[in-house]
Amino acid sequence: MIGPQERWYRHVRRKHARSAHHLPTRAYACHACAAPWPCRHARLALLTSFRGDRVGLMVYLGAHLARALEELPDTHAALIAGQILYWLPRRR
Ligand SMILES: [Zn+2]
Repeated sequence: MIGPQERWYRHVRRKHARSAHHLPTRAYACHACAAPWPCRHARLALLTSFRGDRVGLMVYLGAHLARALEELPDTHAALIAGQILYWLPRRR
């Protein structure tokens, strides 16, 4: 069982993670949380900001994919595409 101090630190970390700007670095890791970009916070922000505009979101992510392919020449292209594009929920 965790004490109130640890609970408070966890709350502060979660609050910071939600409010930080989760933008990609040149190596396509998240600038705020260091997870592969788009991290879960960035994915949520993208889905809410492009709500209803799936084509616009795909175009935006496609531009990031083109840039990531240039920035990460030693990473297999399918891995980069999986990281940047294939997290999107399928259309129903
Ligand atoms: Zn992040």
